[in-house]
Amino acid sequence: MTHYLYQEQNWQAQLSDLITDPLELLNILELSPEQLLSGALLASTQFKLRVPRAFVTRMQKGNPLDPLLLQVLPHHLELEEHPDFVTDPLGEEQANQQPGVLHKYKTRFLLTLTGACAVHCRYCFRRHFPYQENLPKSEDWINIQHYIQSQPDINEVILSGGDPLTLSNRKIKLWIERLESIPQLKFLRIHSRVPIVMPNRVDEELISILKNSRLRIILVVHSNHASELDDFTCRQLQQLVAEKITVFNQAVLLKGVNDHVQILTDLSYRLFDAGVLPYYLHVLDKVKGAHHFDLNSQDIDSLYQGLLANLPGYLVPKLVREIAGEKNKTPLFGVSTF
Ligand SMILES: *Cc1c(COP(=O)(O)O)cnc(C)c1O
Ligand code: SF4
Repeated sequence: MTHYLYQEQNWQAQLSDLITDPLELLNILELSPEQLLSGALLASTQFKLRVPRAFVTRMQKGNPLDPLLLQVLPHHLELEEHPDFVTDPLGEEQANQQPGVLHKYKTRFLLTLTGACAVHCRYCFRRHFPYQENLPKSEDWINIQHYIQSQPDINEVILSGGDPLTLSNRKIKLWIERLESIPQLKFLRIHSRVPIVMPNRVDEELISILKNSRLRIILVVHSNHASELDDFTCRQLQQLVAEKITVFNQAVLLKGVNDHVQILTDLSYRLFDAGVLPYYLHVLDKVKGAHHFDLNSQDIDSLYQGLLANLPGYLVPKLVREIAGEKNKTPLFGVSTF
């Protein structure tokens, strides 16, 4: 493991060699199997462990509280029932008009092309979402096209997931070409955690597809902690920025992972080193199984006050919550003060 150089292995090989066995993960990190309290293995059958080796190399050996590890290791507390924490906290099943399409926001809509992710984040709000029934097939394209054309306010399509960058370059190119053929579309956004957890995914072909599109491309990556951003990952992100692709980050506030002012400050500066601007800081969605990551509102408030004091305005992410049925994400700070 010490000599495993993920930078040299192609991403397809990495994707077919993910770690899915919690005991293997603990073994690599030189942690004892007792880290898995009873219940954790059951939790992992409900939402499988899944993590690229490239991400594991950034975890600290011998540290059961490593902030990267805590995001992926199944935990017995996931099995606890909490009445506020439900399987579909955002009511997405209702907003789901047709396969692959999720249109909640006026000018932009979400296109889900795959249910697969390279990593399974334990706090994910989609951990119970029925992706498999909801993926568009090639013949659905015509309906999606008609749908977009029937909604003249839509100018942006967001590829989300699952994680769209688990798809091959060929598929990504195909879908981008389809979307480019609709004149009203100006922006294409890609939400992905893959450039962080498996930075080799940012290969030359992908960069070339993105930089040659007629659409303005915005990549929103998802990193929660500066330790995720090693030098290689930052270089890969810088390559995109160098090609005039706008790269933003969204993070989720997670108890035990990044609930300190200094950690969030470091994250913002590290992103900026990579040419990436902090976009959103999400409050945890109340999804069943994620209660142990939740923070109370006083703590969130004082964290955010600390960030405002520590950082220049352009490095302060917007603190937001998603509320089911709302027409946009809800800003959480200072709203009641004017
Ligand atoms: C977050 C989100 C968007 C995009 O919202 P922005 O505020 O533009 O980032 C669009 N659709 C859905 C369903 C979303 O959850
Ligand atoms: S959708 Fe994003 S947050 Fe959820 S498991 Fe996949 S990569 Fe993680």
